[in-house]
Amino acid sequence: MIIHNLGYPRIGSQRELKKACESYWAGKITLDELQAVARAIRLQHWELQQQKGIDRIPCNDFSYYDQVLDTSLMVGAIPARYAPLQEKKIHETDLLFAMARGYQRDGDDITAMEMTKWFDTNYHYIVPEFAANQSFHFFSRKVIDQFLEAKKDNYAAKPVILGPVSFLLLGKEKSAGFHRLSLIGKLLPVYMDVLAQLIKAGADMVQLDEPCLSLDLDETALQIFSDTYAQLHAAFPRLHIFLASYFECYGKNLPVVLSLPVQTLHLDLVRCPSQLDDILATSVADTSLRLSLGIVDGRNIWKNNYERSLQQIQKAVSTLGEERIAIAPSCSLLHVPCDLDNETSISPEIKNWMAFAKQKLQELKDLRDIMNGNTALLDTNKAAIHSRATSPLIHREEVKSRIAAFTAADARRKSAFPVRQHIQQEQFKLPLFPTTTIGSFPQTDDIRQLRARLKKGELTTVQYEAAIEKATIEVIRWQEEIGLDVLVHGEFERNDMVEYFGEQLQGFLFTKNGWVQSYGSRCVKPPVIFGDVSRPADMTVRWSSFAQAHTGKLMKGMLTGPVTILQWSFVRDDQPRSVTANQIAWAIRDEVVALEQAGIKVIQIDEPAIREGLPLRKENHAAYLEWAVQAFRISASGVKDETQIHTHMCYSEFNDIIEHIAAMDADVITIETSRSQMELLDAFADFKYPNEIGPGVYDIHSPRQPSAEEMITLLEKAAVTLPVRNLWVNPDCGLKTRKWPETKAALANMVRAAEVMRTRAASAK
Ligand code: GLN
Ligand code: ZN
Repeated sequence: MIIHNLGYPRIGSQRELKKACESYWAGKITLDELQAVARAIRLQHWELQQQKGIDRIPCNDFSYYDQVLDTSLMVGAIPARYAPLQEKKIHETDLLFAMARGYQRDGDDITAMEMTKWFDTNYHYIVPEFAANQSFHFFSRKVIDQFLEAKKDNYAAKPVILGPVSFLLLGKEKSAGFHRLSLIGKLLPVYMDVLAQLIKAGADMVQLDEPCLSLDLDETALQIFSDTYAQLHAAFPRLHIFLASYFECYGKNLPVVLSLPVQTLHLDLVRCPSQLDDILATSVADTSLRLSLGIVDGRNIWKNNYERSLQQIQKAVSTLGEERIAIAPSCSLLHVPCDLDNETSISPEIKNWMAFAKQKLQELKDLRDIMNGNTALLDTNKAAIHSRATSPLIHREEVKSRIAAFTAADARRKSAFPVRQHIQQEQFKLPLFPTTTIGSFPQTDDIRQLRARLKKGELTTVQYEAAIEKATIEVIRWQEEIGLDVLVHGEFERNDMVEYFGEQLQGFLFTKNGWVQSYGSRCVKPPVIFGDVSRPADMTVRWSSFAQAHTGKLMKGMLTGPVTILQWSFVRDDQPRSVTANQIAWAIRDEVVALEQAGIKVIQIDEPAIREGLPLRKENHAAYLEWAVQAFRISASGVKDETQIHTHMCYSEFNDIIEHIAAMDADVITIETSRSQMELLDAFADFKYPNEIGPGVYDIHSPRQPSAEEMITLLEKAAVTLPVRNLWVNPDCGLKTRKWPETKAALANMVRAAEVMRTRAASAK
């Protein structure tokens, strides 16, 4: 039985890659130095996987930014606007960064490509752009280089490549009149070229990731899968194609998937344990297909239940024989932190329930060893699983009984939106096109160092808070000066929008180094929800009331919503997600009420993750939306009509869930729309979205500074689509990752844009 891996976290256990990339962007290190860091990370991870006995080690899973963007570069899908950079012959890595982050230098001003969530994860990829006259050619040779790099050091590497059909499906048509799948005929020759060169370099196996096989696909798409893989097989009959999809069942796609001429098929048995039986019930035994059993959870940090895994393995082995079975993580380990050994402050009892990427490799090795007769390993695992199932650290009666007492009124505001809107407008007297921001202001090194020094004991809490107060007052003054209408306190006291709350809630624990890549160099350190959730004390009241006391303007309270806290945490797998969401919702509701009592009149409950939590298959949408919307409503419904509840969401495709967004019944929603030129608003317009809305007028994910004129253009588009009095003006997300100069310039332009819109609206009357 082979053990293998689908991908390893690339950021480094100490976030070495993040630090190196950011230093490079800041001009502090050279490209050579950046490349050296990257190479060291790859070698270290190959070595580790080798030590853990992994038979097939992935290569090309490394990326400076994102594997989908890498694929765009591999096949030369480089949007025309980057042509000036190619003419200048900038280095491929700089081109990659320009595509991801935009490029504003030496007279060039080129926008970044769109970014969106990778399936239902909190990882983001750069969306491939396709034109009607799209052509492809083998451009970036990274996959060959990295294979050769691994080979040179004698690693039995398996190149990982995003498959051609998923690559197209994950992209977007940038001109009208064609469907991106129609490009397969042009794309496939490039993949053939890549594979031919990999084979020439010595590769005998390649992992093609086709995660779109986990989605609902129509006949055409399935036919393209069949044709594509038939052609690949015909061209390279001796190449071992390892086909991987994850995050869902193959479901209705299974018959086609089983007919594809590939050597190994990977199954995500964590998300879809039942599909092993489905497959074994077919005539798979009569074929030569091998199965890769994804039994170790690549999306969560709990220890594998060996007994359960062994049942699956044994079932598969008894039908197909050991030589046709491989075991693996359910998906790439990109979505879990690197190494639990680096965690020194988690209680030993709880730590014994957990596993990170490195430990997950060990689990695979253990499972094979147990298959070979090492029963002691099984006993140790059983003890850990039993300890978690029965621990009093996990269950709290008062939390469970509050949830049991729920009635429908708990999830309903006192009055309907039109009544609330009237009351709020009378009370606040905001101008048309009121301006606000999403919450955070730049988390500069100075601010971050304050927190680091507090942790190290170099600052007392009093000194730390005084410094945060100073930064908060400064940002309030500055917002007043440029004329923003609804202010924020800047979130300087927060490390992260989920961590900050998790640290104050019971049932959560925190890691020191449990970083996971979110996008590019941005990492998050998801909390671990291990037990019933409750809120022992106020969480944000101190900072929000401090900020409100320093301004006569409205100060927006700032909370993270229950679905986002759930979605961006490692959650319990011993109860349904909906139950955990509910527990968090009640804790947030108490905080919302506490803010209201402290005199905060506008409260934003961020739910950027509500869309990404949507199950990948349509048949599961309704159930999820019902509990997710209800969790938000529970958190928002404890307050009076006078209190204005905002919510915020990023990178969302809302078309399919717009009625549920409306059902959340926030008084104001701010959303990401700028990268897609307000395209997203069509959904809100078609649906006649009733409440107030702030379509983001500029992209904060890029350091590029937008002009007032381009924001006016976007606002004009919004104003034809939606009722003017419902429109707000704001950036498309929080500003914490930006620097001050660009933030100041952009927001000043934004306020100017709002003023122009007001003047135009007044003269139109
Ligand atoms: N209030 C948060 C911030 O401004 C929202 C961030 C987000 O949507 N991801 O940083
Ligand atoms: Zn956002």
